[in-house]
Amino acid sequence: MDKLRFQTALINWFQRHKRDLPWRHTKDPYKIWLSEIMLQQTQVATVIPYYQRWLEKFPTLQSVADASEDKILKTWEGLGYYSRARNFHSACKEAISKYDGKVPEDIEEIQQLPGIGRYTAGAILSIAFNKPVPLVDGNVIRVLSRLFAIKKDPRRFQVLFWEQAEKLLFKKEPGTFNQALMELGATVCTPTNPSCLICPVNSFCLAKKQGIQEQLPLSPKRAKTQIVHLASALIRQNGKILLCQRKQPGHLKGMWEPPTVSFIPKKESAQRKIEDFINQWGAIEINTEEKPDVLKTSRTHYRLHFSAFRANIRGQSPSGTVPKIDSRTTNDERRATVLGYPTDLSSAEWIPRKDLASLPMPGAWAKFFKAELKGAK
Ligand code: SF4
Repeated sequence: MDKLRFQTALINWFQRHKRDLPWRHTKDPYKIWLSEIMLQQTQVATVIPYYQRWLEKFPTLQSVADASEDKILKTWEGLGYYSRARNFHSACKEAISKYDGKVPEDIEEIQQLPGIGRYTAGAILSIAFNKPVPLVDGNVIRVLSRLFAIKKDPRRFQVLFWEQAEKLLFKKEPGTFNQALMELGATVCTPTNPSCLICPVNSFCLAKKQGIQEQLPLSPKRAKTQIVHLASALIRQNGKILLCQRKQPGHLKGMWEPPTVSFIPKKESAQRKIEDFINQWGAIEINTEEKPDVLKTSRTHYRLHFSAFRANIRGQSPSGTVPKIDSRTTNDERRATVLGYPTDLSSAEWIPRKDLASLPMPGAWAKFFKAELKGAK
């Protein structure tokens, strides 16, 4: 391959056709870093409003470091994968204390910060500091495997893709080149129906020559997504609602949600399961009268279906010993346990309705309560 011709064709195309994205108007390493963290596992269109809102609240690295974790999680709410927000918060604090408030420019140092792996380090260093560092993400893997007709599983041969990206890098303008390679994957060299006819580098592409572009990159079959069925109780008393806070480590740590337990559809009644779960806890009795609302959401490898029952308390407020979680036995229960269910009732608190909007919650619940507060439910 004539590398210079390839680089020139790609960069020229990028300069003419790149999407106008807010983080492409800045070289501020804090903002580039923020955009890269938000873009992990998340679509560009979803990220844009979050990115803009975030910068209104936290215009500088210092403002992130000074904020409380609750405020950070609340601003991130709805974007998912909350460990990203938590890591970004810790990393900003570390940049303030260790690196004089600056984003480190050294590849080793920057990767010491929480949440920054090799890809993110490459993106920040090349785009914000113009350092000749390659990067490899899903888009780059697709483009490279097609350009060089690489018939190897990218998950097992990561090193190969990093070597190839390094060889191909345009060292005079690494930031532009890296973005161009990713942009090609995102907009032209797409997973299905790649637009080879209008591709600026089609004359270099071995997969196109061999007619195998749709078969690459090789991807071993994925396991079917599992659905986890959950029953939740929306228990109200005196203008307050009972919510539990997640204490266990994980990306949802610190988030609030209603008491929830798993059930096996067709074998168990969701209503019975949540009633039994709550009724273990001291002198309360709930009355589940209405049809439940159903919330559907996804969490790493799982689809979650919540049946949310409105419940009233008869008798006393919850008190007494919190029930112990029994050892889980079935596969469904084990899956639910991995996801943090049943919720830990020892963390339950009565939350005044007016405070609901300010508590960090997993996206599906945040949306649900927002609609409720607006009176839509
Ligand atoms: S020619 Fe087609 S397969 Fe090859 S890089 Fe371009 S879009 Fe992708």
